[in-house]
Amino acid sequence: MSLSIAFDNSYARLPARFYERVRPEVAPSPGLLLLNTTLAGELGLDAEALASAEGVAMLSGAAIPAGAEPIALAYAGHQFGHFVPALGDGRAVLLGEVIAPDGRRLDLQLKGSGRTAFSRRGDGKAAVGPVLREYLVSEAMAAYGIPTTRSLAAVATGETVLRERPLPGAVLTRVAASHVRVGTFQYFAHRSDEDGVRRLADYVIERLYPDLAEADAPYAALFERVVRRQAQLVALWLSVGFVHGVMNTDNMAISGETIDYGPCAFLDAYDPGMVLSSIDRQGRYAYGRQPQIAQWNLARFGECLLPLLSDDRDSAVQMVVERLSGFAHEFETAYFGRFLEKLGIADERPGDRELLTGLFSLMQMGRADFTLTFRRLADLVDPKADTEAFLSLFGGNAGLEPWLRTWRERLTADGRAPAEIATAMRAINPAIIPRNHQVEKALDAIIDGNDGAVYLRLLQAVTRPFEERPEDADLALPPRPEERVAATFCGT
Ligand code: AMP
Ligand code: MG
Repeated sequence: MSLSIAFDNSYARLPARFYERVRPEVAPSPGLLLLNTTLAGELGLDAEALASAEGVAMLSGAAIPAGAEPIALAYAGHQFGHFVPALGDGRAVLLGEVIAPDGRRLDLQLKGSGRTAFSRRGDGKAAVGPVLREYLVSEAMAAYGIPTTRSLAAVATGETVLRERPLPGAVLTRVAASHVRVGTFQYFAHRSDEDGVRRLADYVIERLYPDLAEADAPYAALFERVVRRQAQLVALWLSVGFVHGVMNTDNMAISGETIDYGPCAFLDAYDPGMVLSSIDRQGRYAYGRQPQIAQWNLARFGECLLPLLSDDRDSAVQMVVERLSGFAHEFETAYFGRFLEKLGIADERPGDRELLTGLFSLMQMGRADFTLTFRRLADLVDPKADTEAFLSLFGGNAGLEPWLRTWRERLTADGRAPAEIATAMRAINPAIIPRNHQVEKALDAIIDGNDGAVYLRLLQAVTRPFEERPEDADLALPPRPEERVAATFCGT
C-alpha cells in the first residue's frame, strides 16, 4: 500500500500571473476526521493509503506528494455587488489534478491549509465547523444529483484557530471539475489583460467544454453554455429548497458546479424571501432571488469576454445580451420541468405551471414545510389515501382539498399507473435534507461535546436522501419552534 497519485498540473502550466506557487503550512498533529472512500474509489485513489499516516500528512498539507505542484489561484470578484480586484485562494491550495479512471480531470484542493499570497488579513485557516458543514452539504447535494464540488476528506490539524472564539482547526480536501470562477475571468479583464482572458477561456474550453472548440464562434458558444449550465444549476437548487447564501461572482464556477458552501441552508417552511445568511443583511441572496442573481453574475462574465467576441464593441455587446436573455428560457425550462416532475407530471400541458404556483401560494400561506410537502404528496397519488397528515403540514388550509382534486385529475390525464407515478416522485423528492437545526446540533456535539456520532448519523442519512428509514424519522422532521435556526454563519 502506498500513496502514489498521478498528478497532472495543467493550471500550473498557464502563465505565472494566473497563480502563486505556495507550500501549505504544516499542521502540528493531523488526524483524519472523515474520508470519502466511495469518492476515493471514483477518483482511482487508494482509500487505505489516504487513511495512512502518509495520506493524512498529504490531506493536511504537511506533505507534498510527488508530482503535485501546489498553487493558489488568482481571482477577483463582486462581493455583495461590490467589485474586489484581488481575492484569490487566501486559504486554499490546489495540489494538482487527478485523472479519474472514467477520464475526468479533477482538481484536488486543500481548503484551510494556511496563508497564501492572497490571504490579505486572513490566517488561511479553517475551523472544523465550516469544514464539516461543507463536507456534509456538498455530499448531500451530490446525492441529489446536483452538480457540485465534492468532499474527499476532512482532517483535524491539531491547531486552534481564532474566530469569535478559539476553535479546532481543520482542512477540507475538495474535489472539483475546475476551480475557475466568474471572478477568475474578472481578475484578468479588470487588468485589461486580454491575453489572460483569452488563455483562460481557451483553458476552460479545452478542459470543461471540449466540444466547443469546433464551434464557429467558440467564445460566444462558451458564454452560451455557461449561461445554460448556471440556469440549470439554480433551477436544481430551488427544487430542493437550497439557498446558497453567498452568490458572489467569485463563488460561481464556470463548470456549473455548486461551489463554496458557506452560510448555505435549506428551506424548512416555504418562503421565497427566505434569507438565512447572517452576512446577507439586504436579502440579496434570498432563496427566490437566486435566478436573478445568477443572471447578474453571468452579465459580469459576459463583460469579461467582450474583447474576445468581436473587434466591434457594439456587436460584441449584442452577442452577450442576446445570449444572456436566453437565461430566462433555460431557467424556466429547467425549473418547471423539475418541479412538475416533483408533482408527478412527466410532460407539461397547458395549465400545469398554474397548478404548481397554486400549490406554492398554499404552501406560503400555510407555512408548509417545503421538503415534506413534496415528499408526502407521493403518498396521495393513490386517490384512496388519507389526506389528513398532508393537510396538517399546511395547518389545515381549506384551499388544499380543491387543489388536490385538480392535481389528481391532472395525473389521471397522463394515464400512468399511480404506483409508477409515486415511485418516480419518491426518486426525486428527498425525504431527508440537511436541516439547519440538525446540522447545528451535529456540529455542536463535535465542537462542544467531542461527540462525532450525531454528525456521522446525519451524514449517513443525508447521503441516502430518497430512502425513508424508520430509524431516521426524526431527521426528516422540520424544527420545532424552539429548534429553529434563525441565521447561518460563514464562520471563515
Ligand atoms: P469565501 O467567503 O470562502 O468565498 O472567501 C472569499 C475570499 O476571502 C477568498 O478570497 C478567500 O480566499 C478569502 N478568505 C476567506 N477566509 C479566509 C481566511 N481565513 N484566510 C485568508 N483568506 C480567507
Ligand atoms: Mg469563495
